[in-house]
Amino acid sequence: IWAKVLAALKGTLGANNFSNWIEPLEFLHLNGGVATFNVPTNFIGNYVNQNFSDQIIYQLNKQGQDVQRVKFTVPSQAAAKPVVRKVAAADDIAGSPIDARFTFDNFIVGKPNELAHAAARRVAEGGPVTFNPLFLYGGVGLGKTHLMHAIAHELQRRSPDLNVLYLSAEQFMYRFITALRERKMMDFKQLFRSVDVLMVDDVQFMAGKDSTQEEFFHTFNALIDGQKQIIISADRAPGEIKDLEERIKSRLQCGLVVDLHPTDYELRLGILQSKVDYYATQYTELQIAPGVLEFLAHRISTNVRVLEGALTRLFAFASLVGREITLELTQDCLSDVLKASDRKVTVEEIQRKVSEHYNIRLSDMIGPKRLRTYARPRQIAMYLAKRMTNRSLPEIGRRFGGRDHTTVMHGVRRIEELKVLDSQIADDLELLRRALEE
Ligand code: ADP
Ligand code: MG
Repeated sequence: IWAKVLAALKGTLGANNFSNWIEPLEFLHLNGGVATFNVPTNFIGNYVNQNFSDQIIYQLNKQGQDVQRVKFTVPSQAAAKPVVRKVAAADDIAGSPIDARFTFDNFIVGKPNELAHAAARRVAEGGPVTFNPLFLYGGVGLGKTHLMHAIAHELQRRSPDLNVLYLSAEQFMYRFITALRERKMMDFKQLFRSVDVLMVDDVQFMAGKDSTQEEFFHTFNALIDGQKQIIISADRAPGEIKDLEERIKSRLQCGLVVDLHPTDYELRLGILQSKVDYYATQYTELQIAPGVLEFLAHRISTNVRVLEGALTRLFAFASLVGREITLELTQDCLSDVLKASDRKVTVEEIQRKVSEHYNIRLSDMIGPKRLRTYARPRQIAMYLAKRMTNRSLPEIGRRFGGRDHTTVMHGVRRIEELKVLDSQIADDLELLRRALEE
C-alpha cells in the first residue's frame, strides 16, 4: 500500500519534492487512525508535516486506509549522535561579535520566512552536518543576518567550546588582504581552517574581487571536506551573483539554498506586535491606540529594518510628548517614512500628468496619432511608467491603446537617449517625476 501511495505522491508533488522530502520517510505503523513514520531529522519531519501531511493522508485514505493524522519520529540513535567537537583553538579569531538581540526567540516566523527559519533551526541543532553549505538569500532587511546570529547563539549555547566564526564577506576580504600584506598567509589559512562553523554574510560583496574569491574557494573546500558547517548569506541567489566564478556558484548551490521572501502583512503585524510587547516593558506609561499597528503593517514597505525604525521613532516621540500613540500622532511623526514607502503611482496617473504638462488631450496621447506633438509625450509617459511602476512592457503597451511591447521598449530607449542630449527633456522628466511622487 505504501508503495502505491509513494507512486501517487511522486506524481502530485514532483520529482524534486519527492526525493527531498518523501523518500526519506520510512513507514512504521498505523494505529488508531495515526500513521507513524521514521524520519532522519526533525527538520524533515516538521517540513513534511507542514507541507505534505494533507497529501499523504489523502493518498492513504484513497488506498482504503482509515488515517486521520500522520506522525513523524526521529530514531533515537540518529537524534543522539554527538556533535563533532574541536578544542577551541581560536579565541583569537576576530570575527564579528554575535549580536545578543538576534536570537530565534525574537525572530517572528511567517509564510515568507518559514523555510529559511526551519533550515536555520535545523543547522543550529548541531549534530551531523546535513545541509552544507546553508545558503540564505533575500532582499535587504528581511532577516538574513538575524538568522545567522541566531544560529551562532544556539550552537554556542549547545556546545560552548564549538568554534563558531561569523564575519561579513567584507571582513573576510579585509583580513585576507592584511594577511597578504603582512605575509601571514599561513596564519590566515590555519585560522580559517580551524573553525567548526564558518558564517560569511553578504557574499555578493565578493563579486569581481577575484583573489578574495580564490581564497574563499579554498577555505570553503577545506572546511566542507573536513565536514565543517558553512553558512552563507547573499542578497540574491548564487546563480544571480554577477562576477562570481562559476565553480564557486556551483559549490554554493550544492547544499541547501533557501530564500527569505518579502514580508507580507501578517508577518509585519507579528513583528510589530512583538516589538511593542518589548517596548511595553520599557515605556510602561505609553498607550497605543487600536489600529495603529495594522496601519503601519499595511503602509510600510517589506523591509523589516524600516519597520522597526519607524516604531522606535514613534515610541521615542510619544514618550517625549507624553501622549498616547494614536493614528494622528503616527501620521505626524512618520510622515516622511510613510510617504517614501507610498510611491504607488499608476500608469493612468502618469498619463494624466504628462498630458496636462504638455497640454495635449489624454485621448490623443493614448490614441494612434504619430505627430511629434503627441508621440514625444507618449514616449515620456511610457518611460515614466516603466521607471515608476512595476508594470511590464506588455502591460504598459496595453494601457497605451494596445500597443506592442516593442513599441514601448523603443519609446523608453528613445527617452533614455534624449534625457542626456536634451536638457529640456531632462528638466521635464525631473519636474514630472517630482509631481508624481507628491
Ligand atoms: P538582512 O541581513 O537580511 O538585511 P537583518 O537580519 O539585519 O536583515 O534584519 C533587519 C532588522 O529586522 C533586524 O533588526 C532584525 O532583527 C529585524 N528582523 C528581520 N526579520 C525579522 C523577523 N522575522 N522577526 C523579528 N525581527 C526581524
Ligand atoms: Mg545583513
